[in-house]
Amino acid sequence: MPVKFPGFRSRREAVPDKLWTRCPSCSEQLFNKALEKTLHVCPSCGHHFRLSSALRLGLLLDPGSFEERDPGLAAQDMLGFVDQKTYPDRLAAAQLATGMRDAAVWGFGRIEEQRVAILVMDFGFMGGSMGAVVGEKVARAAEGALASRVPLIIVSASGGARMQEGTIALMQLAKTMAALERLRAAHVPYVSVMSDPTTGGVFASFAAMGDVNLAEPNALIGFAGARVGAGTIGQELPPGFQRAEFLLRHGFVDRIVARVDLRRELALLLRYLVPGQPEPARG
Ligand SMILES: [Zn+2]
Repeated sequence: MPVKFPGFRSRREAVPDKLWTRCPSCSEQLFNKALEKTLHVCPSCGHHFRLSSALRLGLLLDPGSFEERDPGLAAQDMLGFVDQKTYPDRLAAAQLATGMRDAAVWGFGRIEEQRVAILVMDFGFMGGSMGAVVGEKVARAAEGALASRVPLIIVSASGGARMQEGTIALMQLAKTMAALERLRAAHVPYVSVMSDPTTGGVFASFAAMGDVNLAEPNALIGFAGARVGAGTIGQELPPGFQRAEFLLRHGFVDRIVARVDLRRELALLLRYLVPGQPEPARG
């Protein structure tokens, strides 16, 4: 889907460096231009490729309706963390690769004319990991939704808390939950969309707490990885464990929505959750 946002021209999208992508699910060679038309869903097997934040916003929002908030929030290396690279080096590389400051973007926009506060995560930025910036943006998105009394939509894509920020990353679980609790107490709706993958501290906090929890088909959703889970309980895990369909059967997900239907389904949900919303233009 060729969508352009000012300020969101990442190198990934601006310079297509190859023409073909191999589907990791069915191994079909897919022409990238064709993949754009199918919203980055494999036409052969339905595999949903991960989306950048800019493509996700373009897919969901009315064209030109997005007003970003807090674009300048940037991470601090509070622990002086070094693994094979320093944390500032990892941040700089991720910023260069994605054109983003950190792994989430939030602002206000419209879905079929209905105003929403929306936050989208980007797995391409350090695995969509949640540090202080992502946590702060989630909290501010919830506070913005509350102040404007418009529904909140969060599209998650994350490997979990950002290890380079240690306990400060873990604090974001409590902070985001406190902000969502204020939203819930004020009866402002929150719809969570879990895309592939939604795991670790993001699943253990705001992603699982929507008034309605949606998921994309076959998205990996869970807390600890399958190997850790199997090791902990000393048993083999059932087939499809931690996939969206498994979570739907066990009540953690309310509905699985194919990407092609997501915008329409969100618009319907918003109309249902917020009476008096504008009807879609007919034509
Ligand atoms: Zn495929």
